[in-house]
Amino acid sequence: MNSVFWFTRDLRLNDNPALNQAILDSRQGKVFACYCLDRDWFESLSAIRANSLVASLQSLKLALGGALNIVWADESNKIAAVVANFAKANAATKVYASKSFVPAFAAVQASLSSLIELILVGSDYAVDPGNVKKPADGLNYRVYTPFYRAWLQVGWPQPVHFAGNSSSFAFSNLGESWPELDATSTVAIKAGEDFALRTLDRFMRTRADHYDENRNRADIGGTSHLSHALAHGEIHPRTILSRLSDSKGHEVFRKEIAWREFYADVLHNYPNTETEYYNERFAQMRYDTGPKAEAKLLAWQEGKTGYPMVDAGMRQLNTTGWMHNRVRMIVASFLVKDLHIEWIHGAKYFESKLTDFDPASNAHGWQWTAGCGTDASPYYRIFNPIGQGLKFDPNGDYVRKYVPELAHLGGAAVHEPWLEIDGYQNGYVGQIVDHAAERAESLARLEEIKIDIAD
Ligand SMILES: Cc1cc2nc3c(=O)[nH]c(=O)nc-3n(C[C@H](O)[C@H](O)[C@H](O)COP(=O)(O)OP(=O)(O)OC[C@H]3O[C@@H](n4cnc5c(N)ncnc54)[C@H](O)[C@@H]3O)c2cc1C
Repeated sequence: MNSVFWFTRDLRLNDNPALNQAILDSRQGKVFACYCLDRDWFESLSAIRANSLVASLQSLKLALGGALNIVWADESNKIAAVVANFAKANAATKVYASKSFVPAFAAVQASLSSLIELILVGSDYAVDPGNVKKPADGLNYRVYTPFYRAWLQVGWPQPVHFAGNSSSFAFSNLGESWPELDATSTVAIKAGEDFALRTLDRFMRTRADHYDENRNRADIGGTSHLSHALAHGEIHPRTILSRLSDSKGHEVFRKEIAWREFYADVLHNYPNTETEYYNERFAQMRYDTGPKAEAKLLAWQEGKTGYPMVDAGMRQLNTTGWMHNRVRMIVASFLVKDLHIEWIHGAKYFESKLTDFDPASNAHGWQWTAGCGTDASPYYRIFNPIGQGLKFDPNGDYVRKYVPELAHLGGAAVHEPWLEIDGYQNGYVGQIVDHAAERAESLARLEEIKIDIAD
């Protein structure tokens, strides 16, 4: 019997139990590999994000000896129908895939299963969302630290090797045209399973031991940069976790991998929180709208707020498709608490730009920073964008790299150009708001929805 392996967020051969299952079950027939692109969605991506996906697909195609078929869905022919049609046209009776926990995609998988036999194996998490429960009442965790302890207890199996070889996949003449690289972006994107495994090796050799000390520093490459590979499934978190010991650096890194799993678990339990407030009380808060707010949103998007650390972060995002985690928090706090704009506008902008976009981590990273998410802290954090810059980019190298108008300033002076006689000589913009005043305003608005606050 022929079968189809439908690649989704698992663009790899190794440690892919669903792919192994398809190969083992189809020894008497052929396995056709396919990836389905939704045309409207693909066309909505920024050039860098679109190219990062194309680079991942090209690399997978190479690993499959060329036998990766692209099929396109559109308004009239939805993903589930397109995948089912591709299977039937190739005389395949089953479709295999990794189980998705992204709410919209889980719905697509459900509708595919009504069209053809769909075998879902594994997921892109070490522990499938929904499987970490409080022993006392069987409910899900709403706070990270106890989730982390219980997640470790549940545990996960060792990674599995690819069960096939270069002749495991059959060519189909029913594949459609490949997506083109968007020439408006000249950013070179490295992608693929081999690159992800090499990135992990390099991280383990050079950075993992000092991850706990360096991960917050925007100016030094102290983190793994594995987020693109995880978002596209070029590496499974199990493969990463299997390399970690109990040392301090490794333990802190394991906890970050667990944040990804925690947010997936939260989104699985509260699927509406991809776009709606996790803490509903915050939907009542006063937020700014209208032309003035839109102008501020645009200044934030373009990295022209007059706050160097915020502007450097947004320009890093716009030019590379990635932003350092500490800086994601700084720019998110600035949008919500200094500009009083709802988190969803920031989350949507991130979605259009991030090559590591992940629905759960993005929505809940935003909600956590906005104060309406899964934060156990009784404090309402308002990041000081200047203080954060001085602390996490102490020599100013990060800001100088992304904000050329400030490159003439030495050391930490880049964080406070208003103190320098020549601070604005190269055209850097003035501050669009006053942080101290907006902080007070933010706390006043918080008071209106009567959340307990502390400073
Ligand atoms: C507002 C906001 C939006 C975010 N949006 C995304 C997103 O769309 N996609 C995404 O992958 N991450 C997102 N994050 C989390 C985090 O910023 C990135 O995972 C991290 O910067 C990726 O770089 P890295 O691979 O070098 O991370 P490392 O520090 O090397 O961490 C290793 C891996 O752990 C996971 N991880 C680390 N920190 C977090 C975290 N705070 N939350 C969830 N997972 C984490 C990621 O998968 C990451 O690749 C967001 C954070 C914030 C504050």
